[in-house]
Parts: sequence; C-alpha cells; structure tokens
Amino acid sequence: MKNNLQNNLSIEKKIDWKIVQSLFKEKFGQDIFESWLKKIKFIDEFNNYILISVPTRFIRDWITSRYLDQILQILKEYKKNIMRIEFILEDNNNLNSSITENNDEHKNEILNNNVSFIKDSYLQYNRIDPNKNFDNFVIGSSNKLAYEASKKVSQDIAHYNPLYLFGGVGMGKTHLLNSIGLSLKEKNKVMFISAERFMYQFVKSIKSNEMVKFKEYFRNTDILLIDDIQFMNGKEAMQEEFFHTFNALLDKGSQIIVSADRPPNKLSRIQERIKSRFSGGLVVDIQDTDYELRYNIIKSKSDELKLLGSNEINITEEIQKFISSEIRTSIRELVGALNRIVSFSRIYNKVPNLSEVKVILKDLLNLSEKKVTIDNIQTIVCKFFKISKNEMLSSRRSRYLVRPRQTAIYLSKMLTSKSLPEIGRAFSNRDHTTVIHSVKTIDKLRKDDNELNINIDNLKNKILYNQENEI
Ligand code: ADP
Ligand code: MG
Repeated sequence: MKNNLQNNLSIEKKIDWKIVQSLFKEKFGQDIFESWLKKIKFIDEFNNYILISVPTRFIRDWITSRYLDQILQILKEYKKNIMRIEFILEDNNNLNSSITENNDEHKNEILNNNVSFIKDSYLQYNRIDPNKNFDNFVIGSSNKLAYEASKKVSQDIAHYNPLYLFGGVGMGKTHLLNSIGLSLKEKNKVMFISAERFMYQFVKSIKSNEMVKFKEYFRNTDILLIDDIQFMNGKEAMQEEFFHTFNALLDKGSQIIVSADRPPNKLSRIQERIKSRFSGGLVVDIQDTDYELRYNIIKSKSDELKLLGSNEINITEEIQKFISSEIRTSIRELVGALNRIVSFSRIYNKVPNLSEVKVILKDLLNLSEKKVTIDNIQTIVCKFFKISKNEMLSSRRSRYLVRPRQTAIYLSKMLTSKSLPEIGRAFSNRDHTTVIHSVKTIDKLRKDDNELNINIDNLKNKILYNQENEI
C-alpha cells in the first residue's frame, strides 16, 4: 500500500541498505567503514529523506562533521531524490535528531518519538515547531512586510485572506507559517501541512475510501497553513477538492495562509482559478537578504547558543562578520554554516580561527584557492582604482595609494587562507601588523562608508566569480 502511494509521488525504488553499505566501504575504505559507518542502521525512508540511527551522540557528531556530505552524495547517486539525512540516537530514549542542510522541518515529528506514526495520521503532520516563533524571527528590510502580514493575521483572523507569502529557498517562509500556527493554535483548530503531504493524504484517502474523513478534517480547520504550494501538481480531481476546500474555508471565515517559491501567476500545474484565488488576498514576497539582516541573524543565533550554554561556544565577531558577508544564498545556509562551526567547536573543543572556518565552509564559500591568488587580487584592485601595481607595492603613502593597498590586503585576508606574514610578504615585505591594521581599517570603514562597501562587494564578485561587468 505504502509503496503504491509513494510510487504516485514518484519514488522509484526502495533503498537496499546492504548495497549502500558496500558503497560506503568502497568509498571510505574498510577502516573507516568498520570504525564508524558500519554502526549506522537504516530506519526508514520518506519522500526525500532517510532516517538512520547511530549508537551515540559522539558517533553522530563525528559522522556528521567528517563524512555526512559524502554520505549524502553517495545516497543521492544511489537514489537521486534523497535530499536529507536525519539521525536518531539509539542510546537516548528521548529520540534526538540531527539534520543535514539544517532543515529541521521534521525534527519535531521525530522528537515526538512517534516515528512509526509519521505516515499514518493527519495529526502527525500537523507538528508545529515551538522553536520557530515570531520572537526569534529576525526582521530586516527584505522580510519586514512578510513578518508584519503574518503578525497581522495572527492577531486579526481573516483580515488578509488568503495570505500568500513567497520567496526563495531557505528565506524564512516555513518559519513564518510555523510562527503563525504557533501563536494561533491555543484558541483555534490549526492545520499546518506541506502541499506535498496534502497530496499524499489525498491519494491515500481515495485508496482507503476515506474521502469523507479527509474532507471533514480539512474543512473543519480554522486556520489552514499550506507550505510550498508550488509542489502541488496533482491531478484534476485533487485540485478540484483543493479548490472546494479552499472556498469552503474562506466562506466560513477561516484563515488560509499559503507559501510558495514564486508568485501565484508563476505557479505551473495549478489551475487558473486557484491561482486567481491566491492573488485575491494579500500577496507578499520575502526578498534576498542584505548584510545587516544576515549579521543580525548570525548574532541572534550565536547568542541563542550561548544561552543554551553549549560548552560556552563563543563564535568570535570576526567569524560572525565573515559568515554574514560570505554566505548570501539563503538564511538556511547561513544558519547551516554557523551550525557547522559549532559542530567543529564541539568536536575539537575549540572555536576555529578564520582560516579553519574557510576550510570548514569551503563548499559554501565558492572560494577556489587555485583561482584566488594575492597576485590576482592586486591586479584587479589596481585596475579598479586605476593605479599601477608598482605604485601599490611601493612604500609611498599618498592617500590615493593607501586605500587601494589596504583594500587589496583586506581582500587577500578575506578571500585566501594565506597567513598574515604571507600576505605581508606579498605586499613588498610589509610587516604582519600592517596587514592587521589594514584589515581593521577597512572593516571599520565598511560600516560607515556605503560606497566603499559596495565597491568592495563588487571587487569581491570580480575576484571570485570573474564578473567583469559589475565594476
Ligand atoms: P523557507 O521555508 O523559506 O525555505 P525556512 O523558514 O525553513 O525557509 O528557513 C530556513 C532556516 O532559516 C530555518 O532554520 C529558519 O528558522 C531560519 N530563518 C529564516 N529566516 C529567519 C529569520 N528572519 N530569523 C531567524 N531565523 C530565520
Ligand atoms: Mg520551507
């Protein structure tokens, strides 16, 4: 039964863990396999993630920090729809989980210990994560409107109806939906479900002749939160049902909140009349983050960690700034980067320095050491400021040379893993204290001088991605 249903949702084959283990052996060698990976037990697989168990927290952390990326890679090669791995611990009755990509949507399902129920009950889908609330949602100019609209519907039901939030992956949509659910669930019947799950339930209800129950269940909610509506691609009958549910709920004054990765009119495979219903309420987007928001998020998450007292991990301000300026793709990656650093600190009992951070986050940073050389940085910075390389490397201290020189030194520190003395040497044998001074000066100026800030971002793009036109 389950297989049939999953087939409908385009799952092709069941994972054979023996085969996966042999792939591990091949990839990691007998030693690592015997010491660590053999202990992994396969528990179950769901739409796009698998659940595995390991004996202890230590083994989990060890595997997470050293092998998880490769393990995920192997699993993806074996079965391409696997996006995440979740762990549970055998030695812990309160099941604990650690999740790749820092996507902890399902963490609570697992924390709630009812792993076997996940597939079976509406209630099990309807897990609202107490850790994603309005209080720990950091506001910036890119998400302010979405935050305010979400707050508004939580205080004043059906004021904006439906509320449609859209934005890129990992930008906080689920966090906001969860926050709304959290703040309304005491007094209302709240249903929080992803569009994928909605479809799954729909298909399942048809097969088990439980459509009446399905309809009743959804039409009885006061607050319906549907996450990632872009994944809704069901057949006519399902869209029909969705449309009717949707209308019935609006008619009786229930609040509907929908999230998606794109605006309503760009949704493919969804009926026009449903799209037009979405457009009929309030549509708000979450835009790309800016440095300030990223920094505030990193700060707030670091402070949270401090409060948790987790081994007094104290991520330095330099590292906080570095992550905030470099990890721009999504808030999920940003938080993920911080979590990686924390894992490192736990395992080695020390906070990594900047060079170590660059190594730990290498795959997220897009820094290719081969391409980014100090020489390359000097050339690009000279061209930008229209000075010659001789001038940059000379000992002259004219103002028009000092700033470009400091900028090149700063970028060398930020974009390569060269040590301070190495950088000093590349700038006509300057002392490492000069390097420190330059880095500090530019760092400080970036805060107040917006033009310089933009110039440096442009230079960085040029150095890292060879984007000529930006300058
Ligand atoms: P989306 O649903 O848009 O893909 P999520 O809501 O899952 O993104 O957010 C990804 C991660 O980033 C989550 O851990 C979430 O808690 C965190 N996050 C996103 N936006 C913020 C924010 N403004 N403040 C604090 N954490 C955030
Ligand atoms: Mg989401």
